[in-house]
Amino acid sequence: MKIYNSLSKRKEEFETIEPMKVRMYVCGPTVYDFIHIGNARPMIVFDSFRRYLTFLGYDVNYVSNFTDIDDKIINRANELNITPEELASRFIDECKKDMRAMNILPATTHPLATKEIDGMIDLINKLIDKGYAYIGKDGTVYYDTTRFSEYGKLSHKNIDDLQSGFRDLKVSGEEDKKTSTDFVLWKPKKEGEPYWESPWCDGRPGWHTECCVMAPKYCGGALDIHAGGEDLVFPHHENEIAQYEPLYGAPYARYWMHNAFLNINNQKMSKSLGNFFTVRDVLSKFDGSVLRLFMLSTQYRSMLNFSFELMESSKASLERIKNCINNIKFTLNNKGINISDNSKLSTIDDFDELIVDLKTNSEFSPEELSAFDKICEYIKEYFDKLDDDFNTSDAETQIYEIVRVANQNVNEKSCIAFLNSLLLIINTLLDILGIDISDNAIGVDESLINSLISERSEAKKNKNYALADEIRKKLLDMGIELEDTRQGVKWKKI
Ligand code: AMP
Ligand code: ZN
Repeated sequence: MKIYNSLSKRKEEFETIEPMKVRMYVCGPTVYDFIHIGNARPMIVFDSFRRYLTFLGYDVNYVSNFTDIDDKIINRANELNITPEELASRFIDECKKDMRAMNILPATTHPLATKEIDGMIDLINKLIDKGYAYIGKDGTVYYDTTRFSEYGKLSHKNIDDLQSGFRDLKVSGEEDKKTSTDFVLWKPKKEGEPYWESPWCDGRPGWHTECCVMAPKYCGGALDIHAGGEDLVFPHHENEIAQYEPLYGAPYARYWMHNAFLNINNQKMSKSLGNFFTVRDVLSKFDGSVLRLFMLSTQYRSMLNFSFELMESSKASLERIKNCINNIKFTLNNKGINISDNSKLSTIDDFDELIVDLKTNSEFSPEELSAFDKICEYIKEYFDKLDDDFNTSDAETQIYEIVRVANQNVNEKSCIAFLNSLLLIINTLLDILGIDISDNAIGVDESLINSLISERSEAKKNKNYALADEIRKKLLDMGIELEDTRQGVKWKKI
């Protein structure tokens, strides 16, 4: 598998520090409000990548923090007349609700900056001892960027250019900074702000120090993958490297993965520009799996434009997949096989084994064998695309192709093995991307639909057509359309 490394600006073969173990850290949100769908892009992309690594057999230690103290949190808490702690705790809970609705797996650990202050003081002390940091008159501690010769290596910026770019930038309270690129490791408290005691002054850590302490602590050392949105390359990730590498004398992270922005009208979606939709807004209109299908419809390093029209088109795509699955289940049902769940395989080994078995399945008709051959090509392409810098966009296309072949070939003559294997294949390929099409996930209660369909059949048998029509209408109001066929009643979501 190859992934693009922002550090080398090349696609590189993926090799982990420890065999088959992945230490992965993703910068999480600052919790001062509901998250917007721009924040959801790294969450969905890297959760899917984690799922894929797990499917491939890696044991993934996935760490993602919540930044629970910063100026925005303090200001918002003051506006609302609550403590920053209360505000952060409330929005961590809300963020976790959104994550569940988007089918994002909880991280192995979700560290909180405010619980890790001792580790940060320790790191800053070490940097001071080694001459990489200095203390200003008011007790502010600064990192000395001139001491680290590799400063700028991640953002591919030369320190002289960086310094000239920063020349006019005077940040109040940072008067003792020796060089414009130097950054704050510890800052003194302001009146009424939360603070922690330290050897330098009562205050709190800078943001770049937070991740740099939590990532190695919870990942168990240097990282295989450090990920986040592309706005974090500079200065956040550059500054994390500058703190870690001089102290440990080893690379901080092997692979740096950065997602491009989610835009609206070609502008980054952000709170400060006011051009944002919260995940909560969007999920009141669309299911979480539609949002996921949409987010992954573009490769993560390409800009993704958000619009409700595009969401409608992802919704239609999901319905097509869902209708294909329902049609296969219906056909199986008519053969006396009742499948209500969406079984899937959870490892590549099981999946490969299934494909090998099916290739020599004697129950398949010649037409089914030839359809299956085509499907195998799309499966191969699906994995090749994911192995090429996690190209979920092209991988989704392969699922649509498989659905198309399934729709062309599923009929009452299909053999059970063929039908079952189609279900297993489609469900597994969706599951790798975290796309949950179970009926509850897309707002349909299948057992309720089936019992209404039985009631309607009963009513028709008893010549109670008024009741039968009423039930059909009730299902239609639920978004379910019925079709009476020779084999029985089929339903689909409209
Ligand atoms: P923040 O809360 O602003 O620190 O952002 C949390 C994560 O969301 C970071 O990885 C950001 O890079 C990412 N992010 C914020 N806005 C966007 C956006 N419009 N598109 C993609 N990623 C974003
Ligand atoms: Zn971070």
